[in-house]
Amino acid sequence: MVEKIDHLGIAVKSLEESIAFYENVLGIKCQGMEEVVSQKVRTAFFHVGDTHIELLEPTSDDSPIAKFMSKNGEGIHHVAYYTNDIKSQLEQAQKAGAKLIHKTPIDGAGGKKVAFLHPKSTHGVLTEFCSDEK
Ligand code: ZN
Repeated sequence: MVEKIDHLGIAVKSLEESIAFYENVLGIKCQGMEEVVSQKVRTAFFHVGDTHIELLEPTSDDSPIAKFMSKNGEGIHHVAYYTNDIKSQLEQAQKAGAKLIHKTPIDGAGGKKVAFLHPKSTHGVLTEFCSDEK
């Protein structure tokens, strides 16, 4: 079951420059940075209440984030829904007609398991499920 929006993923060219915006303009503090090797990105996290902002900077030209920015520029990249059972969430999404990018969860930032639905099957929004399951 989807429990809440866990985070919004935002593609940026430079973590350092973007962190300055969130800290100085919005007044929210960066909680840390992490490289996610499987996604070829560096991330920075901010807490906004119970939800997070996840900034994503590509670490290579063939990173999914680099490809996204070459088409769309910087901006909102994905919406992540928190679930306590990512596998059954994926099964349900597939049964209901969504196209899965990941049939099984992969390692995401913060030690979470994550899996994405293809935006062509979600009305244009790259949709992530994330979970604290091991
Ligand atoms: Zn995410």
